[in-house]
Amino acid sequence: MPDGIDVQVEDPVVEDSQAEEAVDFFGLLFIEKQELLDRLSELGYGEEGRLVYDTNFADTSQVTAERGEVEALVQKLQDGLDQVEEALGKLEKGNYGVCESCGGRIGVARLEANPAARLCINCASAAKS
Ligand SMILES: [Zn+2]
Repeated sequence: MPDGIDVQVEDPVVEDSQAEEAVDFFGLLFIEKQELLDRLSELGYGEEGRLVYDTNFADTSQVTAERGEVEALVQKLQDGLDQVEEALGKLEKGNYGVCESCGGRIGVARLEANPAARLCINCASAAKS
């Protein structure tokens, strides 16, 4: 029996970290990213989120009004895409799942529901109110 070595005492209740390892967040984020890109391209926006059929549109006021709505949606999708990219970057750096506000862990259940979440549930609900 070796004595005096740093013995790592395993906490018997490590369900949370085990669950986190079991979840393929890379996969979840890639699916999320693909869905966002698909929706953007359905709206006529290309990979970089730029309007690709711009010149085919007549410049009527109706089109302009519709485009306003589309652009609001596109903005939302692009924001989502930015968050997904950011989360992927964090996964690579190893600081994924850390709340940007309080530095605490974001719950696994929350990350599974929203893999690009930047805030823990407490900070997110505090930010909303
Ligand atoms: Zn937090």
